[in-house]
Formats: sequence, structure tokens, C-alpha cells
Amino acid sequence: MRPLFQPIHLSILSEAVSLSEEIISDRFGLTTEYWLKNPFEVKTLKDEWPVRLPKGVFAHLEKYGNNWYEKFFGKDTQCLYKVLIVDYRVLKVTGGNNTIMMPFLLYIMTHELIHMVRFSRFECAVCIEDKTEEEDKVHLLTESVLSRVKMANLDLVIDFFNGKRITLSMN
Ligand SMILES: [Zn+2]
Repeated sequence: MRPLFQPIHLSILSEAVSLSEEIISDRFGLTTEYWLKNPFEVKTLKDEWPVRLPKGVFAHLEKYGNNWYEKFFGKDTQCLYKVLIVDYRVLKVTGGNNTIMMPFLLYIMTHELIHMVRFSRFECAVCIEDKTEEEDKVHLLTESVLSRVKMANLDLVIDFFNGKRITLSMN
């Protein structure tokens, strides 16, 4: 059985979710109305098991919405996004260390919400042909948004995602 988030990790996650929403709202000028039209939920594997996941990812974004023709005829008023956090991979890479987990979860939530904002604004298609190019853009935006945030160990996490660190171990 793979380790899943315990209550302490879930409370760190919920803090990271609120903070990332605040940071993204600020950076992209998103209003309450935007979030009402584009709600998202955050799940962990405890809620979703079993699930097929892309190899090695820490989080996975899915969109539920109406069909394209409803969008075309203006009937599409709402869609729902779901961010699935891969508990055991996050626990493994952070070593379950709370002071690393907060900036780590903030990073992955910010990254997924930037994907979501870009989908919702049609800045990229949901069926992206060049996923690598989109990933690179989102990666740069995440770094730029988070570079203004002051949080312990966030610099380590950014270095990790930049490939400048191969581990998040504090030792
Ligand atoms: Zn991504």
C-alpha cells in the first residue's frame, strides 16, 4: 500500500491551495466572478484510487465541461476543473518534511492553476499539439509568479523544478 496524505498533510495542502488561488488572482487579475465560472476542486489519491496517471507527475489537471458545440452556440456557461495531487509521489520527494511540503505544494498548485487559467482563456487548446511547449511556458510563468513570494524553502523548490537540484532532501 502506498503512503497517502495524513490530516497534517491535508491541512498543508489546503493552505497551499488558498495561497495559490490568491497569488494567481493577483497576477492574472481574476475576480470572484471568474472563480464562480471556473470552479476547481482538489483531490488526493484517497478520493480517486484507482486512477491512471501520467508517469512521474506530482499533480494532474482534468477539465469537465460541455461539448464544443455548446460552447459554439454560447450555451456553455460552466465547467469544472479538478486537480489531482499524487500523494505518495509528493511524500516521497519531500520526505514528508512539512517545511518542504508547503512550498512544494504551493509550486504544484500554482503550476496547475496557471494551466487552468490558460485553458479557460483559450490561450492554449485543451488538446494541445505541442505539450512540451505549453509545459515550458507554464513553467516559466510559475517561476515568475512565485519569484515575488517570500516563503521558506521556496527557492529550493524552484531550483528543483529548474533541474538545478536533484533532491529536496535537507541533509
Ligand atoms: Zn504542467
